[in-house]
Amino acid sequence: MNSNELAAQLGFFRDIGVESVSVQPPETEMPMRPQITNQKPEETMSSDLESIRAEIGDCQRCKLAPRRTNIVFGSGNPNADLVFVGEAPGFDEDQQGLPFVGRAGQLLTKIIESINLKREDVYICNVLKCRPPDNRNPEPDEVAACNPFLKKQLATIRPKIVCCLGTFAAQTVLQTAAPISKLRGKFFDLDGIRVIATFHPAYLLRSPEKKREVWEDMKQIRAELFRLKF
Ligand code: URA
Repeated sequence: MNSNELAAQLGFFRDIGVESVSVQPPETEMPMRPQITNQKPEETMSSDLESIRAEIGDCQRCKLAPRRTNIVFGSGNPNADLVFVGEAPGFDEDQQGLPFVGRAGQLLTKIIESINLKREDVYICNVLKCRPPDNRNPEPDEVAACNPFLKKQLATIRPKIVCCLGTFAAQTVLQTAAPISKLRGKFFDLDGIRVIATFHPAYLLRSPEKKREVWEDMKQIRAELFRLKF
C-alpha cells in the first residue's frame, strides 16, 4: 500500500468513526487476511464461471440489451469466501465491462480493505448484468431474466458469505420484499451460504452518516469469516 492509498484508507476509517487502528494485530486476534481457502486469489475466471458467461452470450433476454455497451458479468476470485452482490452496472461499469469501477466502486474497495481483505480476494457481481438507462431501478422482468445467472454464479463459487449491497440485491438474493433497513446487519441462511445485507456504497456517498452502520456490518462479516474458519 503506498502513502496515498494509506491516507485514503485512514480517511475511510475516520469517516466511519474508527478512533484508533493497531498496526500490529495481537496474536490472539484475527489474522490480517481472514481468507478461508488455501488457494491463491485469482483474477481469472474458473471454467465453471466461464461456462455461465458463455451461456449468457450476447444476451437479448430483456429490454436492457439494445442500450448496453458491455455485459458486466462479475470479477474477482472465483474461489472467494466472500461475494458482494450489487444492483446493476452504472455508466463506468457499462463502459469497462467490470463491476464497481466508478465512485461507488472506489468506496466499495475501501470497505473491503477495512476488514483487511483485498479486492482480488473477493468476488463482485450484480443482480443485473446490463446497465438500466439513466441508472434507473431494475424492473421485475429484468431481474427475472438475469437472476438465474446470479444464482448460478453463487452456486458455482459457493462462498461462505454473500454480502448484498442495497435494497435490490438484498431483496433479490433473499427473495423478500422487506426494506433494506429491516434486512441489514443480520445473517440469513441461503442453502448453507450465510447472507448479510448492508447499505449500497452509492447510498453511502449520498448519506455518509450511514457509514457507521456499514462498518458494524463489515465487522460482523469479518467475525463470521473468522468463526467459519476455526
Ligand atoms: N452500482 C452497482 O450496484 N453495481 C455496480 O457495478 C456499480 C454501481
